Amino acid sequence: MTSPSPRPEILTIHPYVGGESKLPGANRTIKLSSNEGAFGVPPSAQAAIAKAAEEVHRYPDGGAHQLRAAIGKRWGLNPERIVCGAGSDDLLYQFCLSYGGPGRDIIMSEHGFSIYEIAGIYAGSRVIKVPERNLTADLDAMLAAVSPSTRLMFLANPNNPTGSMVPAEDVARLRAALPPEVLLVLDSAYAEYVTHPDYDAGIKLVDATDNTVMTRTFSKVYGLGGMRIGWCYAPPAVVDVLNRVRGPFNVSVAAQAAAIAALAEPGWVEKGREHNALYRPKLAAGIEAAGLKVWPSEGNFVLVDLGTVEAANAADAFLRTNGIIVRKVAGYGLPHCLRVTVGTAEEVGLVVEAFAEFMRQARG
Ligand SMILES: *Cc1c(COP(=O)(O)O)cnc(C)c1O
Repeated sequence: MTSPSPRPEILTIHPYVGGESKLPGANRTIKLSSNEGAFGVPPSAQAAIAKAAEEVHRYPDGGAHQLRAAIGKRWGLNPERIVCGAGSDDLLYQFCLSYGGPGRDIIMSEHGFSIYEIAGIYAGSRVIKVPERNLTADLDAMLAAVSPSTRLMFLANPNNPTGSMVPAEDVARLRAALPPEVLLVLDSAYAEYVTHPDYDAGIKLVDATDNTVMTRTFSKVYGLGGMRIGWCYAPPAVVDVLNRVRGPFNVSVAAQAAAIAALAEPGWVEKGREHNALYRPKLAAGIEAAGLKVWPSEGNFVLVDLGTVEAANAADAFLRTNGIIVRKVAGYGLPHCLRVTVGTAEEVGLVVEAFAEFMRQARG
């Protein structure tokens, strides 16, 4: 008997591992495993979702006109150059499926966001992972990996799970050195959290070229990860491609309403950004004071280096017995590290104390 089988490369894909949410038996779980914003759902978005319940027998506006107008207004962009997706992951898949494919290589950095690899293999592309320097994308090495077959390059900036950032000037130099037929995707999911002065999320480069796109998400600082909304800013030709291939109703009625409301929530982004700017260093310093290395981060998370796989696994197990879930990142080639999201002030205090206690016990 033969049975249905996918293309062989599909079975080489490792399923995406999301952050866990619950610990059996724990009466309170502190979830610091998915980089969700520290403040929950914006109140106006909650109200908009409740209101949307009355309208969900209707299909959504497939063109997300109101939402694109609101995004355009917020960032000073032409709504015609914006495409919305069911999370930015949706758009990352569409880039791979449209611009990738057999014989069309995709380049990413060694510890880059795992969706690029999953979507790239799915599309039938060869996905080339280029070694990093100091857990930061090595742009010269990424350029050196380009061949006549290269069609896509992904750069998460800042990157997840490392937290590292590439300065705007270097990204511009990368773009200038890339062949024009290579679409450069700048994934700026954590743009709102960056405090480094040399950062740019990518709008300038999208405007200056016809082969660069920027993706953004409502899943992090906007607190809407569960609604699945992201967007991209792209050249007209790329917008045209995305509008041919994306699901016609890829962003739900409730998701569109929630995003529009979240954009209008007074002070929401400022609050998230200020909290992060204050507590990211506190989280890093607290864990360093416990005797561990913490990599510099421009996101709403830090990468803790435990030195060995055994220590990382032991720390993870210890945190769990204390009701705290962080993210193991072995799937990113970092089995000796743990990624910790910047939570509320209380959560930051609790996770710092848990790392300190782990180190005290480890020292005996
Ligand atoms: C969280 C994240 C996203 C956002 O994904 P959504 O599908 O919009 O929820 C995109 N890129 C990176 C690097 C991320 O960490």
